Amino acid sequence: MRVFKFGGALLSTAKNINHMTGIIDEFSCQPLVVVVSAIGKTTNKLEKLLQMSIDNDDSLPLEYFKLKSFHINLIRDLELNKEDELIADVEEIFRNLWDVLNENHENYYRAYDRVVSFGEIISSKIVSYKLKEKKHPFETIDARELIITDDNFTEAALNWEKTEAAIKSKVIPVLENHKFVLTQGFIGSSEGGDMTTLGREGSDFTAAVFANIIDASEIIIWKDVPGLMNADPHLFKDAKKLDNISYREAVELAFYGAKVIHPKTIQPLQQKGIPLQIRSFFMPFEKPSIISSDTSGDEKIHKIIVKQNQVLLSISSKNLDFIAEKHLHKIFRSLTKNKIHVNIMQNSAVSFSVSFNYNKMKLESVVSELEDEFYLRYNTGLELITLRHYSDDLINRIVGNKKVYLEQKSRTTIQLLVK
Ligand code: ASP
Ligand code: MG
Repeated sequence: MRVFKFGGALLSTAKNINHMTGIIDEFSCQPLVVVVSAIGKTTNKLEKLLQMSIDNDDSLPLEYFKLKSFHINLIRDLELNKEDELIADVEEIFRNLWDVLNENHENYYRAYDRVVSFGEIISSKIVSYKLKEKKHPFETIDARELIITDDNFTEAALNWEKTEAAIKSKVIPVLENHKFVLTQGFIGSSEGGDMTTLGREGSDFTAAVFANIIDASEIIIWKDVPGLMNADPHLFKDAKKLDNISYREAVELAFYGAKVIHPKTIQPLQQKGIPLQIRSFFMPFEKPSIISSDTSGDEKIHKIIVKQNQVLLSISSKNLDFIAEKHLHKIFRSLTKNKIHVNIMQNSAVSFSVSFNYNKMKLESVVSELEDEFYLRYNTGLELITLRHYSDDLINRIVGNKKVYLEQKSRTTIQLLVK
């Protein structure tokens, strides 16, 4: 059995959706689960629509209309026999989206999940029509019936037992019936029936959960790059493809912010020793990158990971008190409450610094919660650079003349917060 995941960037033109069905034909010699995410930049656009709705922004109807038109135009380009039927279905989904956007958004995080889930619902609908016309034997199963989570909206945690039971009872019979299953990444539902999401870029994780539960022999994440690279090729012209890396190395890379795979993806695969291939969507017969238990390739090539748009928040006590456990406890409680993930931290006697992805709303909320008790200062627009298997030469080359705000070093990894 195999699991394929197609990211949204790949599905943003009719030509690519056709190409996807070709890949399924060519590579689907075994029972298969196909996981798709939202098309193009739809998730970002849905996030914006929600924000506009909260802000009572007059441009909301226009932006909503643009997103709808983008999908309708894509459908027209697909030249389906059942074009009218699909357009009617998608218009209905958009009407639901409009209703949800106009609900009251008392719980922002719950509203977020309700709104952004639409991206995957729409993409899977469109892909399913194309597959039907190509006479593929498959069934669509809504991920909200399979991926059961808690109600930690926007970053819901899987209820493993319930998810396993649902996948075994609903997916396995379809596979045994010689059909493949099409489903959505990223989305699920809480036990109470609310829509939930697994965290941005979470559809890789969905694919890994399926692979684990159906005991897949491998999982393929199709990408618009040749494989896993040692650096972002948009930032570093000499980025190299990594042929083999271990689960452990992949977890480290994802943890430090490599965008190629979602950090939670590896664990369900490693648990069952399922290899993960990252393959080029446009050159499907080229050698993929393989992530497996083989550690022999890990130290051969250095890796560079850059996280942009970081904020450095420095917190110090107002009376020159040491920053001790009781303060850290308060600081972390506020960070957790605001769903902030710390990328790097450091403390001295009277101050504590943390860096995280800039988000205006979250930053302001933390500052307002802590400012009575602490002095707070922050810098925005920083970059967090992580170098694995580094050399002094590499550090000098990458850091150049940039100002270093924070530095942390271990035998294998150095992290530098710079501007
Ligand atoms: N569509 C979601 C996102 O963009 C999930 C994913 O792409 O994996 O975050
Ligand atoms: Mg995406």
